[in-house]
Amino acid sequence: MLNEALLRVAVSGASGRMGRQVVDAVSTSSDLMVAACIDIGGDLGAALSESKAQALVDFTTPTAVLGNILTALDAGVVPVVGTTGLTAQGTEQVRLKCAQTGIGVLIAPNFALGAVLMMRFASEAARYFPDAEIVEMHHENKLDAPSGTALLTAKRIADGRCGATPIAIPAAAHGLPGARGAVGEGEIPIHSVRLPGFVASQFVTYGGLGQTLTIRHDTLDRSSFMPGVLLALRRLEIIRQAADIVYGLENLME
Ligand code: NAP
Repeated sequence: MLNEALLRVAVSGASGRMGRQVVDAVSTSSDLMVAACIDIGGDLGAALSESKAQALVDFTTPTAVLGNILTALDAGVVPVVGTTGLTAQGTEQVRLKCAQTGIGVLIAPNFALGAVLMMRFASEAARYFPDAEIVEMHHENKLDAPSGTALLTAKRIADGRCGATPIAIPAAAHGLPGARGAVGEGEIPIHSVRLPGFVASQFVTYGGLGQTLTIRHDTLDRSSFMPGVLLALRRLEIIRQAADIVYGLENLME
């Protein structure tokens, strides 16, 4: 018999670093239960239908995530996605599938509430300090660069400028290629550091007349992402009813 009081959550990438945290966090929450754990090689479609899952939390890889989202939507299950590195083409396919199925998807490049606030503050500062650069630091096994958080932060800063124009900094005429970083939205330089010891850190530095401002967030442990994952699961109906991609956890934070 199904316990209808509990939200049934499937976890893909359940054996991974993030997946293990999600399984622990969900199974120790009194209003949620782990309905299925799926790993590489598993039949996601069958697992979702047999377990009667209502949500799929996905922390897998940039190559696996698109197929997992489409399978979940076809099964009527709401995807809550933390995996980063989904391509623009993949994003378009997800959008189409949302429209076809009438079910929304949460894609959150960062579930750490502190990182979401950092992006909010970064956007707010851009109106007064339109000149900014982003530095993100992650562990050595991260597959994508720059991070999804850095890309989203660049977008937030570009949107937050509200017409304030950055100064045009000339490209370096001499030196090593790549020294000025990748270029995100709004022509904002993004520098990616990959080193053992980091989990996920980022700072945004702004330059102004005679002053600089730095906003920084550090994830010290993967448990930091769990309050955001649980918050998303508890607002699942908002995601479902969006029938589109809900991009970023901030859309669910009041
Ligand atoms: P990880 O330890 O490598 O875990 C990924 C897991 O997914 C592995 O167990 C992998 O299995 C499994 N997997 C691969 N293909 C699969 C498939 N088709 N179906 C089911 N499982 C599959 O990586 P991680 O550190 O947990 O990170 C996972 C993702 O989350 C990355 O994209 C990372 O950038 C992202 N992330 C996001 C946030 C956020 O807040 N949004 C926070 C941290 C990390 P194998 O090992 O056997 O290949």
